[in-house]
Amino acid sequence: MARLFELPVWEASGQIRSGELSAEEYVSCFLERVERLDGEVKAYITVVREKALRQARLVDRKVKAGLKLGRLAGVPVAVKDNICTVGIRTTCASRMLENFVPPYDATVVERLKAEDAVILGKTNMDEFAMGTSTETSYFGPTRNPWNLERVPGGSSGGSAAAVAAGMAPLSLGSDTGGSIRCPASFCGVVGLKPTYGLVSRYGLIAYANSLEQIGPLAFNTRDCSLLLSVIAGRDLRDSTTLSVEAVGYGEALGGNLKGFKVGLVKELMGEGTHPAVVEAVQRFAGKLEELGAWIGEVSLPILDYALPAYYIIAMSEASSNLARYDGIRYGFRAEGEGLDWSREFSVTRSLGFGPEVKRRIILGTYALSAGYYDRFFLKAVKVATLIRRSLAEAFKKFNLLLAPTMPLPPFRLGEKISDPLALYMCDIDTVPVNLAGVPAISIPCGFHGGLPLGAQLIAPPLGEESLLKTAEAYEKAAPEMFRRPPLG
Ligand code: GLN
Repeated sequence: MARLFELPVWEASGQIRSGELSAEEYVSCFLERVERLDGEVKAYITVVREKALRQARLVDRKVKAGLKLGRLAGVPVAVKDNICTVGIRTTCASRMLENFVPPYDATVVERLKAEDAVILGKTNMDEFAMGTSTETSYFGPTRNPWNLERVPGGSSGGSAAAVAAGMAPLSLGSDTGGSIRCPASFCGVVGLKPTYGLVSRYGLIAYANSLEQIGPLAFNTRDCSLLLSVIAGRDLRDSTTLSVEAVGYGEALGGNLKGFKVGLVKELMGEGTHPAVVEAVQRFAGKLEELGAWIGEVSLPILDYALPAYYIIAMSEASSNLARYDGIRYGFRAEGEGLDWSREFSVTRSLGFGPEVKRRIILGTYALSAGYYDRFFLKAVKVATLIRRSLAEAFKKFNLLLAPTMPLPPFRLGEKISDPLALYMCDIDTVPVNLAGVPAISIPCGFHGGLPLGAQLIAPPLGEESLLKTAEAYEKAAPEMFRRPPLG
């Protein structure tokens, strides 16, 4: 029998709405797991126990009163700590924002609340979302619930670990170059990076705003669809959002994959990819074939330039976005006797940011400076355009593209942290998606040495429904891939 925390969200919320299950009991079950397991996993930076319980009781009272409740009635959600929550500190896992309590909610958080969801807490991440392992957090690393010696992936490592360990049924992450998909893959859960502009970034603390999107993480595809349906749609406070009406993504689920054409990306399956990953993705493709899809191969040679282009654009935007942390307006401030403004500014930034963030600000500033702007930033932007075009070409022949999410299984804590280039290389399969602005999903597709592996499906702009439909068909055909870590 499924334990309460394993109940799919779409079922739990139905039971809460009908009064069969109390929201207080449901929320308490996750709080109890957090208390028991998070001392080791460290998925959360902040847990708002009392607030969550109060909110749950309110939902129960509304049910008793016969009031109409939202789609996430009484469902706890863990929110990445770079997404603003009114009255709950939002740290970006940085000393710079250690005590920052936002005066407003991000649009996605407002939407959760409008559907009667319960915010459970804020999850750990790489500092300012810069990283692939959740090791650069000022609060210390998150550990992979499948093996506490391994990284959970990053930068939304806390959000993925919380869902995998049953410390939240749903979570929100953000994905600038893979930060939802990478930890989803490493922790064995479903994570979706939406089309650029589908989900509002209002209240998301910016790292590289031309690349990033907030998106859902869940234990199964249907729950992932439900959370996406709640957060997607036009927002007047984010002028980059698209004028599309939010869709009920779950309605597209079901059916077979007959006539679906899926292109396996040659450049992302070759050299540098761990053999266990190649094998798992091939088996995944085989399963889709059994389900009626047609599998072909596609070559995209331009992807050789994706990683350098991504890092130049991401660091350049970061250097500009992080200029606001000056110790004057908000956040950490180094105060000292006799420090003049310029000295205070520089000491604040030296102490407030960790080494990876500083490295990126310096490199980004360099890439944007006079004389180098044309050689680096502009060139990288041109590469992004070529990648977008070459994907658009590929989508004339294929409905979806398929690649690994990560080129390797979850690595050991500390294994790569002193070698930034080795860490950046891990993003090879995920960054093309952000440069092109298209949606992609990571789906659990195998295990290697007891550690989860993920397959990545990529769709044309606004192709979220086909991603979810394909993921759901696979999930039904291969339920053994959707497993819980042996944590208790
Ligand atoms: N690992 C990539 C980076 O460090 C992606 C991070 C993200 O998506 N936020 O930039």
